[in-house]
Amino acid sequence: MATALKQPIIKQLTLALLKPDICADAALPPKIYQALNAKNLDIVQQRQVLWTEEDAGSFYAEHKGKFFYQRLCGYMTSGPFQALILSSPNAIKEWRALIGPTHPVRARIHQPTTLRALYGLTDTRNSFHGSDSDETAKNEIGLFFPEFDVDAWHRNNNSNN
Ligand code: GDP
Ligand code: MG
Repeated sequence: MATALKQPIIKQLTLALLKPDICADAALPPKIYQALNAKNLDIVQQRQVLWTEEDAGSFYAEHKGKFFYQRLCGYMTSGPFQALILSSPNAIKEWRALIGPTHPVRARIHQPTTLRALYGLTDTRNSFHGSDSDETAKNEIGLFFPEFDVDAWHRNNNSNN
């Protein structure tokens, strides 16, 4: 008798930041954890970070020269923030969908239930970051969690055994 093959659910990793404005108000992070839980985005690892100008500049190198670059680096060095490794079957898209459009005013108009619509303050101080591809997720996870082995995690969590 043929038995139905159970397809393994392949999980993906992404890097999330709860930026300094979220971490400055102790009431906010618990609300974000609830939102993660509701979307089955699991926290694999988490740590608090305090950046120097140099750290901000290397993370946001792709934006160097843009009109908002100095403001962005000033914001990201203004206080401690949280870095999280998240996992779910579609973590990269799920987390970016949950945080919503980059600009909070646009988020409030077009996607009012997203986290940037709810908590974002300005175009610069938009409260969250999410990796935009598998490759950037791996690089960004490596920056914040140098001891975390992304490939080993996939081997251990996505095997067919
Ligand atoms: P993200 O991937 O949605 O975070 O957006 P980007 O990678 O394009 O931009 C990185 C960060 O720069 C954003 O999260 C904002 O903090 C900031 N930023 C992006 N676009 C603008 C803008 O038009 N104005 C200002 N003031 N800040 C921006
Ligand atoms: Mg980006």
